Amino acid sequence: MNREPEWVDLHVHTTASDGTLTPAEVVALARKVGLKAIAITDHDTVTGVREGVEAGQTVGVEVIPGVEIGVQHHSGQMHILGYFLDTTSPDLLESLSRLQEYRDERNPKMAARLRELGFQVTMEEVAAIAGGDIVGRPHFATLLVKKGYATDNQEAFDSFLAYGRPGYIPKDRLTPEEGIKCITRAGGLAVLAHPGYLKESDDAESMRSLLRQLKQWGLTGVEAYYSIHSLRDEELLLQLAAEEGLLVTGGSDFHGKNKPQIGLGSGCGNLRIPYQLAELLQQKWQRTKNS
Ligand code: AMP
Ligand code: ZN
Ligand code: FE
Ligand code: FE
Repeated sequence: MNREPEWVDLHVHTTASDGTLTPAEVVALARKVGLKAIAITDHDTVTGVREGVEAGQTVGVEVIPGVEIGVQHHSGQMHILGYFLDTTSPDLLESLSRLQEYRDERNPKMAARLRELGFQVTMEEVAAIAGGDIVGRPHFATLLVKKGYATDNQEAFDSFLAYGRPGYIPKDRLTPEEGIKCITRAGGLAVLAHPGYLKESDDAESMRSLLRQLKQWGLTGVEAYYSIHSLRDEELLLQLAAEEGLLVTGGSDFHGKNKPQIGLGSGCGNLRIPYQLAELLQQKWQRTKNS
């Protein structure tokens, strides 16, 4: 008998990083839009996972513990997603607190730079917008909008905060190998997030060699289904994943009002991620754990 199709979203941010819904609110929304499972994948922190898992148990949504770590890479934003990791692992928590130190070094410099550019912003105001431990550029963007210096978050990035713009301050990062190992040492599976952002996605053989390299360091999968991937990105990643022995995942990168164009589970409108991908990921994790 055919099962009814069931959908998931394996890339979701909450107020623990730069989303605008709390973990419990995200889970309630997942339930409302009919998702069977979500993964909470906040930037550089797992502090939202527990609330999400508990809310999921209450309302009947499977919540997979996750994280998203930005790593150094020459050709664009490389982010590594981690799934099913032990969010109490001391080793993991130590790495994440190092990432927080990198942010703590950068954020006051970014506030000072924005003041040099003539904007009246303070770290206190940015921290108040962030609410939690992880303070990042999206919070600066929200503040610039709130003060009337930009019309929306995207314009704040395009004019001031994006790489190469005058308000951009670099941040120390882990290497890709360190990012992957930080996840696998905590018992998690590492997945390459939104490969379509990387320059390698323009060329199948460059993407293949990148994936091979990352796989040698412990990568398990690629996020082929993603809100702003083109059909071509998607097809290329599905094919390379099959050929290189990697799993496929998918997620929207939901951030609530910080990315208002992206819907939970539905991305820019037509994203659909089958539950089966989450099952395959979980089975792989079980096998890895038992081996
Ligand atoms: P941070 O970790 O503080 O450097 O902030 C990174 C986050 O900012 C990313 O995860 C995105 O959500 C957002 N971001 C980075 N670059 C852009 C951009 N060019 N346009 C819009 N959002 C961006
Ligand atoms: Zn984000
Ligand atoms: Fe990302
Ligand atoms: Fe993300």
